Amino acid sequence: MSSPDTKKLDTFLQHAGLADFDPITGSAPVALPSVRTSTVRFKNLAALDKAQAAKADLRLRSTTYGRSGMQTHAALEQVFCTLEGASQALLSSSGMAAISHAMLALLSKGDHVLVADSVYGPVRYLEKTVLQRMGITCTYSQASPDALRQHLRPSTRMLYVESPGSLLMEMLDLPLLAEFAREHQLLLVTDNTWGSGYIYRPLELGAQVSIVAGTKYVGGHSDLMLGAVMSADPQIDRVLFDNHYALGHSVSADDVWLAMRGVRTLPLRMRESAANALQICEFLTQRPEVVRLYHPAWPQDTGHALWQRDCTGSNGMLSVQLGVTPQQARAMVDALQLFGIGYSWGGFESLVQYVDPSVLAGHSYWADQQNSLLRLHIGVESAADLIADLEQALNIAVAS
Ligand SMILES: *Cc1c(COP(=O)(O)O)cnc(C)c1O
Repeated sequence: MSSPDTKKLDTFLQHAGLADFDPITGSAPVALPSVRTSTVRFKNLAALDKAQAAKADLRLRSTTYGRSGMQTHAALEQVFCTLEGASQALLSSSGMAAISHAMLALLSKGDHVLVADSVYGPVRYLEKTVLQRMGITCTYSQASPDALRQHLRPSTRMLYVESPGSLLMEMLDLPLLAEFAREHQLLLVTDNTWGSGYIYRPLELGAQVSIVAGTKYVGGHSDLMLGAVMSADPQIDRVLFDNHYALGHSVSADDVWLAMRGVRTLPLRMRESAANALQICEFLTQRPEVVRLYHPAWPQDTGHALWQRDCTGSNGMLSVQLGVTPQQARAMVDALQLFGIGYSWGGFESLVQYVDPSVLAGHSYWADQQNSLLRLHIGVESAADLIADLEQALNIAVAS
């Protein structure tokens, strides 16, 4: 699927953040260099005063110190803003740091948060380790208005979701959740790492804040950690900005540069991974061991209609429920040659994760199934090679 908007983004991503021409030679490098600096130098005090005064207007992105970065950072922030339809993007050293930034900025002592039970696992760790200590409480729930309504409290302030959830790819009805959040004056905060702004745009579907782990598809080459928090409301922008500064978030210019380099090919990589993933779905669905596939672009996925309505493309994230013993599922993982065993996704390479049943216990979408779950990230290798690899590994697993 490719909407006109997606085509515009394809062009934008090739032209974003080009270096300025040198005023004397009239020339410039094609790629913006990594502008590394720990502070900013001013010609005179008048220039410094002007930069300080300009800080009142966040759109001017006035920098007086190295922590917030200079041209390289500004270019990547602009990329995130355009991808997500945001007025502001703030970078962090990891996706998890971006999540904690948004939570700590927007929540206060005594606040209650409704959290979709399909969210990225370490969010629960953040709650246990930090939020509880700050007097902030979370309730995990299936993310439908009917289920969420039962957990509302007078102190509920935020609805935090991830769509699709990155283990079972559970598509949420974001416009409906946005309506529910508005009705109850909750901030809707979404983890949009799956869509990374390119194929799914939560801010346009009614969310106030969108968070992306740039570590995944934006970086795209499994060589950097980075996160970003996007918003499109002047008041929320200001709160996020002030807290980002106060908490000391900062990203190395080299990692930002790598992310800029990676994002140029985001459309190509996502499209290739998505096409490969569909071919792998075709193969898997013919295997007797496969009980269910989780991939919203696959027509039999429960979330397919929502995906068709709200997304402009797909990616290489795919989970598969196997009617085999845990030992057989583990044997399959070990037998795979092309799929690396690892936790991340969104890079060029294929990865596999044996999902521990204890992790799924808290997901209503899993509903206590007894089977084994493997999560695959389908990279940009040849689909035929990946299918052959899966086939030989499945055969080894069932024979074991
Ligand atoms: C990986 C991931 C994160 C965290 O990103 P890091 O950069 O690894 O901290 C957050 N949300 C989702 C959905 C992720 O997959």
